[in-house]
Amino acid sequence: MQKTIVSTKDLVKIYDTGEVKVKALNGISLELQQGEMVSVMGPSGCGKTTLLNCLSGLDDITKGVVNIDGKDISKLKDFDKSAYRARNIGFVFQFYNLLPVLTAIENVELPLLLAKKSLKEARKTAEKMLELVGLKDWATHKPSELSGGQRQRATIARALANTPAIVFADEPTGDLDSKTSQDIMNLLMDLNRCEGITFLIVTHDPNVGKNVPRKITMEDGRIESDIRNPDYNFNCPEAYTKNDSLKRIKGKF
Ligand code: ADP
Ligand code: MG
Repeated sequence: MQKTIVSTKDLVKIYDTGEVKVKALNGISLELQQGEMVSVMGPSGCGKTTLLNCLSGLDDITKGVVNIDGKDISKLKDFDKSAYRARNIGFVFQFYNLLPVLTAIENVELPLLLAKKSLKEARKTAEKMLELVGLKDWATHKPSELSGGQRQRATIARALANTPAIVFADEPTGDLDSKTSQDIMNLLMDLNRCEGITFLIVTHDPNVGKNVPRKITMEDGRIESDIRNPDYNFNCPEAYTKNDSLKRIKGKF
C-alpha cells in the first residue's frame, strides 16, 4: 500500500514586510507518496523555496494544511517542530551548509549525535552514509579540501544520516558545473530507486529536473503542471546492485 509522506491542501503563504504583502504561494495542493522522486521547477521568484520551507516547517504558513508523514506540522510548537524536523526530514541546500572546522565524517555524525546516538553508533552510520555517496576515502577531509561535487555528496550523506522520511533539496546543483550537476542528480536517482529514499528537489534549471520520475512546474505561486515522466527507468542500475557493499540500508527509509 502507498504511504503519503507529504500532503498539503490550499497552501497559501503571504510575506508581510509591513509596506508590501507578497503572495508567494497562492493555493498549492499536492501529495507525495513514499519512494517518490519529484522535481519542482520554475523561474526564479515563482515560490519554489517558499514551498519547500513551508512543507518542511522551516517557515510558517499563512493558510492551508501541511502534513508530513501523517503529522500536521503547523500545529506543532516551535521546539517540537524542530525536533520533528531533525528526526524526519533531511535537507540539502545549494551552498552545502557544512561546518568548515569539522571533517566530512564529523559533519555527517553531527545530526546523529544531536539525536543522542552513541559516538560509536554515529561513527558507524556516518561511515556507511559516506560510502553510499562515494566519499569513503575522503572521510577525514575538511570541506575546504573537497570539490563542490564532493561537498554536496557530504551534504547528502548528512541528510540521510537519520534515515528521514523525506529529503528536501533546494537547488542542490546550483553551485556546480553541468557535468558535476548530472553526477549529483544520478546519485540522487540511484538513492531513490535503489534505496527507496523519497526526494523533493527544487531547481530553476530545467536540465537538472527533467529526468526524474515526476515533474512539477510552478508559476507565480501556483502549480502549473504535474506530470509523470514516461521514460523514467525505475529499476536500480546493475552497476549499483552488483556492488555488494552498497546493499545495506534499503528498507530503513
Ligand atoms: P524561488 O525559490 O522560486 O526563486 P522564492 O520562494 O524564494 O522563489 O520567492 C517567492 C516570492 O516570495 C518572491 O517574490 C520573493 O521575493 C518573495 N519572498 C521570498 N522570501 C521572502 C521574505 N522572507 N520576505 C518577503 N518576501 C519574500
Ligand atoms: Mg529559491
